[in-house]
Amino acid sequence: MTSQEHKQVVIAGGGIGGLAAAVACAQQGVPVQLLERAPQLSEEGAGIQLGPNVTRILQAWGLGTALSQMAAFPGQLQARDAQTGQALGTLTLGARAQALYGAPYATLHRADLQSLLHDAALAAGVQVLLGQKVLGWRETADGVEVSTADDASVKADALIGADGVWSALRQQLLGDAPARFTGHLAYRALVAQADLPAHLRSNQVTVWMGPRLHVVHYPVRGGQWLNLVAIVHGDKPDQDQDWDQVGHTEALMQAMGAVGRDLHERLASVPAWRQWALHDREPLNGAKQMAQGRVALLGDAAHPMRPYLAQGAGMAIEDAQVLAQCLAHGAGSVSARLQTYAEQRWARNARVQARAIRNGRIFHATGPVAWGRNLSMRLLGERLMDVPWLYAGGAPIGR
Ligand SMILES: Cc1cc2nc3c(=O)[nH]c(=O)nc-3n(C[C@H](O)[C@H](O)[C@H](O)COP(=O)(O)OP(=O)(O)OC[C@H]3O[C@@H](n4cnc5c(N)ncnc54)[C@H](O)[C@@H]3O)c2cc1C
Repeated sequence: MTSQEHKQVVIAGGGIGGLAAAVACAQQGVPVQLLERAPQLSEEGAGIQLGPNVTRILQAWGLGTALSQMAAFPGQLQARDAQTGQALGTLTLGARAQALYGAPYATLHRADLQSLLHDAALAAGVQVLLGQKVLGWRETADGVEVSTADDASVKADALIGADGVWSALRQQLLGDAPARFTGHLAYRALVAQADLPAHLRSNQVTVWMGPRLHVVHYPVRGGQWLNLVAIVHGDKPDQDQDWDQVGHTEALMQAMGAVGRDLHERLASVPAWRQWALHDREPLNGAKQMAQGRVALLGDAAHPMRPYLAQGAGMAIEDAQVLAQCLAHGAGSVSARLQTYAEQRWARNARVQARAIRNGRIFHATGPVAWGRNLSMRLLGERLMDVPWLYAGGAPIGR
């Protein structure tokens, strides 16, 4: 679209993906209306890791200073054996990530990231409407007509479905089956570091790997809080879409089985857990799964993934950057620009989805496979743990 043709884009969903798309599009001069079904924006009380491929984009959006004030920047990622406590390998982050990839590796509170993006969206002129559940759309001769639960209809040139893993817009666009239960449950907690004994405080990312389990913890809010995520295998909960429930420490400990003293002490130091049932989809197999006509999907609506590469929100933010560039500076009709977006994004998203599944198998390995994993990590360390194609690649910055 040339500047005089900048058209209205409606985004359904005000999670990290929808807000990121709103910021990116509005900053490129594309008018945006964002419809969020919840009466207020609220991210879960949990942390999030952002690789250099993602912080690079936030910096390009002018959010680098604000990010540096709210995030933590861990010096290293260390892998440890959940049963013996032994250190298996270390990936240096900090200055190394900055030097190699031109941007830092950050860990932060989700609510902080959400308010960073929300403030940036408002500053860029995005109209954020809360309590607006999008039901679907119909294509008209010159655009899309988006219908909401309170019988309103909004006209736009393009509709972006950023409505998460249970996306209603995906359902209308692709008509495929709901996301699948992975067989994995995530227990999450945030603990004030000041409440922990000194030997349990930590300013690095640590991944504990054990049979049918792994645990990750890292600092957030400048290191004042420690975010913990414990993943175990378990049964599909009765209400699998209700994915935020009270998690009981005894149930977690039972599902973990025998873990070493170090890890046990850390998990026992957590006063309260929340529990999520993890869902994903098969990796994308083509651009058609991300855009058709005047409607495109973004973030978890398009490519829900296991969190074992810590890149679900990262891919949503990359999607947002590419979407905005295609809409603002691409060639041809709105549909053609959305198609270009999908073509530029689907294969990378599919690769990250597949790698996340593979990581889960490696993290949770048992017997000889676990033995081989530990040996390779000890021998290869950084070479095995770094992911240059991920951290150096992604959405081109510029304009
Ligand atoms: C345990 C765990 C750890 C993770 N760790 C990381 C990590 O370290 N790094 C990382 O990058 N990613 C991580 N992820 C993944 C990341 O959380 C998700 O990929 C990301 O939050 C998806 O954002 P989204 O905006 O696409 O979807 P969501 O966050 O689900 O947002 C969707 C929004 O749409 C709204 N909505 C839904 N339906 C409608 C409708 N019909 N109309 C209007 N609004 C609607 C919802 O209310 C919601 O606000 C993790 C995930 C889990 C489960």
